[in-house]
Amino acid sequence: MADKKQRKNNKNYDEDYNPKFRKQRKKVCLLCSDKNFVLDYKNPEQLRKFISDKGKILPRRNTGMCAKHQRDITIAIKRARHIALLPYAQK
Ligand SMILES: [Zn+2]
Repeated sequence: MADKKQRKNNKNYDEDYNPKFRKQRKKVCLLCSDKNFVLDYKNPEQLRKFISDKGKILPRRNTGMCAKHQRDITIAIKRARHIALLPYAQK
């Protein structure tokens, strides 16, 4: 909150800067860019990057995956959950 107030009073800030329309860097799908990356449902350390701290699968806008690979990841996470390598939910 204090940070926001300060920015308002500070006249040195860029007039074009609008935090609502921040320049978005285009994310490249991790699996498309790295051909050596093998998605493995038996590797929870690897899949942990794609779940939130509550154990939920992160949406594509967060992971930056393409639709195809997001689908693969989702299946892999669900498989890992089934064999108890990943949690269904964390408090
Ligand atoms: Zn991809």
